[in-house]
Amino acid sequence: MDYFSSFSTSSNQGASPSRMRKKFSPIINVNVCKGCLICVYVCEKLGADVLKESGESTAMGGVLPTVSGECVGCRWCERFCPDFAISVEEVEAC
Ligand code: SF4
Ligand code: SF4
Repeated sequence: MDYFSSFSTSSNQGASPSRMRKKFSPIINVNVCKGCLICVYVCEKLGADVLKESGESTAMGGVLPTVSGECVGCRWCERFCPDFAISVEEVEAC
């Protein structure tokens, strides 16, 4: 078991039916993000694999992440970002 195996990506565990309808959207602040891709690594290691390398460069010469897939709202990307450049917002599902 590696370090990330002990974390959970199931934020809806034990949630009420109304919470189960929530969806999550990671928002990347491109003005702050340096492109270290820690968030991409964490998301992939947790099995969600929602954040990817975009191929676009940041102002600091890194690679900007992009969102591709359904975010489960675990918020580990938020916690691991050293620059508070990513936030996960809760949005109502249709
Ligand atoms: S961890 Fe933060 S600074 Fe690094 S690529 Fe992700 S959003 Fe950008
Ligand atoms: S909250 Fe972050 S780490 Fe978790 S699934 Fe969504 S994008 Fe990935």
